[in-house]
Amino acid sequence: MSRSPTLPDRPTLELDPDMSDGERLSALRDHLEKTVQASEELKHQLALAADRHEELETKVDRFERENRALKTTPRYVATLEEVTDDGVVIKQHGSNQEVLTQLSQGLRERVESGMRVAIDDSFTVQTVLSNETDARAQAMEVEHSPDVTYADIGGIEEQVRDVREAVEAPLVDPDQFEAVGIDPPSGVLLYGPPGTGKTMLAKAVANETDATFIKMAGSELVQKFIGEGARLVRDLFSLATEHEPSIIFIDEIDAIATERTDSKTSGDAEVQRTMMQLLSEMDGFEERGNVRIIAATNRFDMLDRAILRPGRFDRLIEVPKPDETGREKIFRIHTRDMNVADDVDYERLADRTAGFSGADVRSLATEAGMFAIRDGRTEVTTVDFEDALAKLTEEESGRANTFDAPSASPTYVY
Ligand code: ATP
Repeated sequence: MSRSPTLPDRPTLELDPDMSDGERLSALRDHLEKTVQASEELKHQLALAADRHEELETKVDRFERENRALKTTPRYVATLEEVTDDGVVIKQHGSNQEVLTQLSQGLRERVESGMRVAIDDSFTVQTVLSNETDARAQAMEVEHSPDVTYADIGGIEEQVRDVREAVEAPLVDPDQFEAVGIDPPSGVLLYGPPGTGKTMLAKAVANETDATFIKMAGSELVQKFIGEGARLVRDLFSLATEHEPSIIFIDEIDAIATERTDSKTSGDAEVQRTMMQLLSEMDGFEERGNVRIIAATNRFDMLDRAILRPGRFDRLIEVPKPDETGREKIFRIHTRDMNVADDVDYERLADRTAGFSGADVRSLATEAGMFAIRDGRTEVTTVDFEDALAKLTEEESGRANTFDAPSASPTYVY
């Protein structure tokens, strides 16, 4: 719609005094016709202007309401639980009070359940907290029911079974533990070399139990959130409670739970505080309900034994590199969506990749695909796998002299 409609030209009537009566009559008729036309056009433009006026009034009204809401200082943080036709249900952090409230149309279009919002005293939603304003989101990865399944994990069947027993069973059927009269394991610690599927395992349990997966990396916590570690650990547990059922996954737990040293630097003190907070959250989290905790490390030797006490990480599961049969399975998993030639022999590939982790096997499959693409083919052949293997082995020997040892070499400390 045009913002400022142009008015039609006003018809003019010019009568020559020398005109005959007939000519005068015809000129008058012509003028009448033009006047009627101009009047129609004006009516049409008036209708358009009225529509526009109404549209602008609605906008002004919305801006005024949003302006009023924004002028009030945000006070409480809440999670938007549900968007319904009657308004939105929010749950205030801290008090856990649930309220049905209204949203301005502008906000309504931007929200979805699970988002954090700022509310005032009268529970009016003032603004949606974006990821940038949500410090917790920077440190944590929150994913509802991730799409990894047990079928995506190969070669560590025993570990999958142990994790299901320790984490999945208490979530799915807590009553059986009560009936038997035992407490389910508090926390599960997965340890082993990098790239062996520890994160996948935690995600698969979250998927199977339809739980929210909340991941926090110990290293990031220590490096990026100096001074905030303890608060973030507190937040982690309260976030997990808000999203029940949920799985807290603390990756690289060694970064915050290394054995205490005598060093008195402030950085160490900060790490200690973060760890103490973690221990106290775990200790005070008796009635954990639908929240389970999994941690992972590839530096088991460095861990402070305090975190392994009963009631804390009291179930230890070693996740090793896959053996030959395991590698074959992982090859099959990572090539199932690839267009692979029939003669590719996975058994032989598994035999030739001793020392490879699951992640290495995946890289090899991807690299083989890249060789096919470079060659302008859509089918991946045995030669592509051979070339990929040669390339990775070469890269690996190039890196072998650096401190960042490749995962294909079985030299990890864990
Ligand atoms: P890190 O200790 O480095 O965090 P991790 O043990 O948590 O490693 P993941 O992140 O689970 O390893 O694995 C990385 C990727 O490697 C996965 O996304 C997957 O593609 C592949 N992978 C690793 N292990 C397996 C496995 N057992 N089966 C199938 N794929 C695997």
